[in-house]
Amino acid sequence: MTGQNVTQVLHVLDKMLSCIAAAPVDERKAAAWRRRLKSGQPAIDETEFPVTDAAYFLIGIARHEQGRDLTQDAAEQLILHYLAEQAAGALWQENGIAAKLGEAWSHLACQTALARAAETVAKNIPLADWQHRECPVCGTLPAFASLEGEGGQRSLVCGSCFTHWRFKRIGCAFCGEEQPEQLRVLTAEEFPGWSAAVCLTCHGYIKTADLRQMAVRPGWQQAALTTLPLDYAAVRWLDNFRSQRATS
Ligand SMILES: [Zn+2]
Ligand SMILES: [Zn+2]
Repeated sequence: MTGQNVTQVLHVLDKMLSCIAAAPVDERKAAAWRRRLKSGQPAIDETEFPVTDAAYFLIGIARHEQGRDLTQDAAEQLILHYLAEQAAGALWQENGIAAKLGEAWSHLACQTALARAAETVAKNIPLADWQHRECPVCGTLPAFASLEGEGGQRSLVCGSCFTHWRFKRIGCAFCGEEQPEQLRVLTAEEFPGWSAAVCLTCHGYIKTADLRQMAVRPGWQQAALTTLPLDYAAVRWLDNFRSQRATS
């Protein structure tokens, strides 16, 4: 899927989101989220993945992008296959959609549904005490960090549901390394305000948006795609670093 197609699909999803009411919150469920969080586990578990919502978004995309009407049943099957990382070529074919395109749609539909569920969780339970590197809502590792306010307080942003949570300012977000000589910050002129914080200890990196230098807060779902050149740069830099070390 090209960048333009993705933008178009994100636009469809945005419109769909603005047309649906916020999901009602079940108090018992919220209590269970709080309990899990308190014991150091992400609030929602796999069984709570919003499959029905993801199917709803998938149906909307297929209709808008290719005039195809997926049934709820077919859409749920496709989403479940996607989540289980099972190939669903025949199923897509039956519905007149190229599997590769369908997979990309499923990815965006699942992301949007999970982000919506996560918003509900974050609105209903406090995440302020969470200090782990994994997402407090879904347990995924962060894809982004953001800096804001005086002193540039850092938050991490989940790569799956885009929940953000406070995290200590100094050190690698993955392994905790704090030695300055092990940490590097890569910037690129094409991405003002963005950097990649690279760790030479675990060879991880995290794309960081300095919100103090940005007029508007980035849309994370879109940023995941538009900042891909920063990923390439960080990976290339780490590869070079490794090969230099191997030969020295
Ligand atoms: Zn998450
Ligand atoms: Zn590290």
